[in-house]
Amino acid sequence: MSHSTANGDRPPGQVAVVVAAAGRGERLGGALPKALAKVAERALLDYTLEIIATVPEVDMVVVAGPPGYESEIQQICDRWPAKPTTIVTGGLTRKASVTKALKELPAVVEVVLIHDAARAFAPRELFSEVIAAVHSGSDAVVPGLPVADTIKRVDAGESVLETVDRSSLRGVQTPQGFDRGALYDAHRKTVEGTDHTDDAGIVASYGFPVLVVPGKPEAFKVTTPFDIAVARAVLADKSRR
Ligand code: C5P
Repeated sequence: MSHSTANGDRPPGQVAVVVAAAGRGERLGGALPKALAKVAERALLDYTLEIIATVPEVDMVVVAGPPGYESEIQQICDRWPAKPTTIVTGGLTRKASVTKALKELPAVVEVVLIHDAARAFAPRELFSEVIAAVHSGSDAVVPGLPVADTIKRVDAGESVLETVDRSSLRGVQTPQGFDRGALYDAHRKTVEGTDHTDDAGIVASYGFPVLVVPGKPEAFKVTTPFDIAVARAVLADKSRR
């Protein structure tokens, strides 16, 4: 997809963000689903939506929330009225949650960002950079960072088989951005249960090229209790600025 942006006007078509927030967060170990886990008294999803509310290019949001927590999700969404927000009940897998959310998008949407609620501190500029790259003609765009650790491939018994050259590896994050046509096409063709941990993987498996743009450390995914401590540090750092 390529849009003309004559006179600096916004390209035609709207931009939607799908927030995948329906995970159980088992690795986090708390009683609540991860999107509702608290950092400094506020749910992760609350931080996620706070940042999305400030992204000028975003026209609407769809949140896929955990089954049984619809009213909690609604209350958080109501705090961020700047973007029209639809809530759907998520599915058993991340892909199922995203598929349900995609069904809610009106035809006027041409760019879709898919974002993990668990990456609650991904900065506003990262959203804008991903959207700009899709507007410049990429079907699929993912933020990625070089891998810091040395990577080993192991066998079933945890014996090292080889050291993998990390120079060409990227740890990819969200928001991931897509031309609507490419995303819908690939999602429709992908059978539930296929082993994809992100949407760029789904789109790439149907031959669409995927572009990596520089990621941001703050876009880390809150997965374990240690990450909650990191999140507190990120918040403290933000409040000092
Ligand atoms: O489990 P993981 O951390 O990889 O999940 C990534 C994101 O996908 C999280 O924000 C989680 O809430 C979301 N997810 C979902 N529906 C599921 C499983 C995960 O929306 N069934």
